Amino acid sequence: MLPSPTPDQTRRGSRRGSLSGNKRYISNAGVADVYIVYGVTDPALPAGKGLSAVVVPSGTAGLSFPRRYTFMGRRGCVVGEVAFENCRVPADHLLGTTNGGMRVMAEMFNFERIILGGSALGVARSAFDIATAHAQRREAFGEKLGCKELVWSDIAEMSWRIDAAELLTYRAAKLYDAGTAPRELMKPAAMAKLVASETATFCADRTVQILGGDGLTKEYGRAEQRCRSSAGRRRWCVI
Ligand SMILES: Cc1cc2nc3c(=O)[nH]c(=O)nc-3n(C[C@H](O)[C@H](O)[C@H](O)COP(=O)(O)OP(=O)(O)OC[C@H]3O[C@@H](n4cnc5c(N)ncnc54)[C@H](O)[C@@H]3O)c2cc1C
Repeated sequence: MLPSPTPDQTRRGSRRGSLSGNKRYISNAGVADVYIVYGVTDPALPAGKGLSAVVVPSGTAGLSFPRRYTFMGRRGCVVGEVAFENCRVPADHLLGTTNGGMRVMAEMFNFERIILGGSALGVARSAFDIATAHAQRREAFGEKLGCKELVWSDIAEMSWRIDAAELLTYRAAKLYDAGTAPRELMKPAAMAKLVASETATFCADRTVQILGGDGLTKEYGRAEQRCRSSAGRRRWCVI
């Protein structure tokens, strides 16, 4: 995966052909072979129009990784800070055209949104499986939990939300595979990511409720883990 820092958030500026600044929360910081960096190349143009994308290989002088973060969930991926100190970027490391970085970013966001939709679907589905298995097994006050209206209505809602998220995510993935133009793909990709993320959060929360005390414990673990995995997905990456 290619982490993609957005421009110089500290606004320390950059000289022609070099990058300075830092960016927090970058996936695979310190382990990726290359970094795609977006920087303002023409501040006189309106926001987004004067942006260019460049490739910065991991061994570049001035590139460092000051810290790594520990997250409440989604711990499979290293996330850290990337710092640039007068990093020289040769002209042939430009991706796309000068001031054409927004197009590159839009294409990457489309792809990433669809992938994140898929991963949120995985969380939603596994939460659903945990909830249904528990509701079929656990008996309270003389009947299975799944026979109680409030419980099965939660399970039914999880089910239709997952189906809706799945349809949106698969539609976006098919459009991507069919080579749909980035501008056209933006809306379906964003909708897929949003609905799948909301669905993961909804299903993880309902699963914790259906499991009662078990849902809250680290000893049982599976439901609270899905809850931590779903947290922050809606706003994650601000994409
Ligand atoms: C696990 C993880 C991996 C990531 N990987 C990458 C990566 O590889 N590449 C990459 O480019 N980015 C990545 N990001 C995203 C990125 O690094 C930042 O998290 C993101 O840019 C948000 O910045 P921030 O965390 O400083 O939040 P802030 O900008 O401080 O925002 C905090 C809150 O304020 C809200 N907010 C901010 N501005 C506004 C506004 N104008 N109007 C209304 N609300 C606003 C935000 O929605 C958010 O809820 C990753 C993030 C995470 C959590």
